[in-house]
Amino acid sequence: MDNDSKPIDDPYTEARQRMVECQIRRRGIQDERVLAAMRDVPRHAFLPSCLHKTAYDDGPLPIGWDQTISQPYTVAFMCEAIQLTGIERVLEIGAGSGYGAAVLSRLACCVYSIERIPELAARAEAVLTELGYSNVQIIAGDGTLGYPDHAPYDAIIATAGAATLPEPYLEQLAPGGRIVIPIGDRPRSQTMRRYTRKNGQLQVENLGGFAFVPLIGQYGWGEGT
Ligand code: SAM
Repeated sequence: MDNDSKPIDDPYTEARQRMVECQIRRRGIQDERVLAAMRDVPRHAFLPSCLHKTAYDDGPLPIGWDQTISQPYTVAFMCEAIQLTGIERVLEIGAGSGYGAAVLSRLACCVYSIERIPELAARAEAVLTELGYSNVQIIAGDGTLGYPDHAPYDAIIATAGAATLPEPYLEQLAPGGRIVIPIGDRPRSQTMRRYTRKNGQLQVENLGGFAFVPLIGQYGWGEGT
């Protein structure tokens, strides 16, 4: 972990602490590094000011362009499932507000995060820069293609749901690497899957049901899904 995130004027420290204890730890998340990152990253700063008061509520929130910032528990669940120790190179698909990338940046060495909606990518980049998350790079583009420029990745995490695992992710996964992605044959109903590359084999685990916005792109759902 290496970033220079700046302390900000933060009236929500207690709300964040409550979020971690009541919504996340109580539901079974045990990784103390994940719990600490969720306690540290100012979720409200990734939302418009009219949503600051609801930023630590137990649910997703709108971020514009029909997209959402995921529920805090879901962010913590995926961060625990991807099993980071601090040395990893991470690829995130679906930067959205940039919040998930900020949390990942506290858990890994560096994070590349792709967003298909250019306006969201620009806004996420601006907030992350403003807050000093210097080990995150936001890229605007189709994340179903992965991001070959910095492959291989130790961890690939998709925050939008696909019908099948996009092939480029396997090509860009390092030995021992993990992919966590919601997979389902309907656009807003998925099972979270973890793929682990071990000894040349791909192990697949189902981690439970979730509802994500669709992953749209060449290896995902079509435009307008
Ligand atoms: N991680 C985000 C956050 O913390 O705000 C939440 C992500 S939101 C649930 C899913 C995001 O995936 C949306 O912003 C959507 O535009 C994006 N997305 C969908 N298909 C994509 C693709 N092919 N490449 C990159 N981003 C994509």
